[in-house]
Amino acid sequence: MTDSGNLFVLSAPSGAGKSSLIAALLKQGSSRPLQVSVSTTTRDARPGENDGEHYHFVSKQQFEQQIEDGVFYEWAEVFGNYYGTSAAAIDEQLGKGIDVFLDIDWQGAQQVRMKKPNVTTIFITPPSKQILEKRLRDRGQDSEEVILDRMSKAQAEISHYNEFDYIIVNEDFDTALSELTTIVENQRLKRSQQVQKHKDLFDQLLA
Ligand code: 5GP
Repeated sequence: MTDSGNLFVLSAPSGAGKSSLIAALLKQGSSRPLQVSVSTTTRDARPGENDGEHYHFVSKQQFEQQIEDGVFYEWAEVFGNYYGTSAAAIDEQLGKGIDVFLDIDWQGAQQVRMKKPNVTTIFITPPSKQILEKRLRDRGQDSEEVILDRMSKAQAEISHYNEFDYIIVNEDFDTALSELTTIVENQRLKRSQQVQKHKDLFDQLLA
């Protein structure tokens, strides 16, 4: 029986609740293994973030070297820092039959779509501008200047909503989580996936 994982891209303006939704999805468990890719970034670690767990934190020079070495599946400059997804890491996981989530911005989503047309892309949006701003403030992690900057960049991110396969409006967390779970399970039940997963079954049924 051969099996290869599904690739999902999850994009959202910061403050839409994307990280909490991914964390909850991983915690609740699912019908098959699921992992979130750990990106590489040149931004500083925030309090509570660990190298290798939340991100691989590197210098700008190291990142540029990795671009040159062709390490990245996709990479982009977001909020003045570089972010990228290592190709080797996701290919290894997909090859093991593990579903992989990429928590990346719209620029990364565009690059992944070009490389893997069967990727499932999901966009998460806040229910209003006011709630988005409140969520960014309640985090208490960034300066006022950064928050205002992220508010204006949120609009740029949201302007790409039309490029995604699915849209989740994160008003009620449990509803959004249930919608995300449905999308993941739906993808896993697609004929292309099932035929691959249950090849032996069909061989036996039709023998
Ligand atoms: P943060 O600094 O708040 O963790 O992330 C800022 C933005 O960068 C988010 O929209 C996040 O999805 C995006 N991002 C994180 N990792 C990657 C990556 O590997 N590639 C791309 N293109 N965007 C990323």
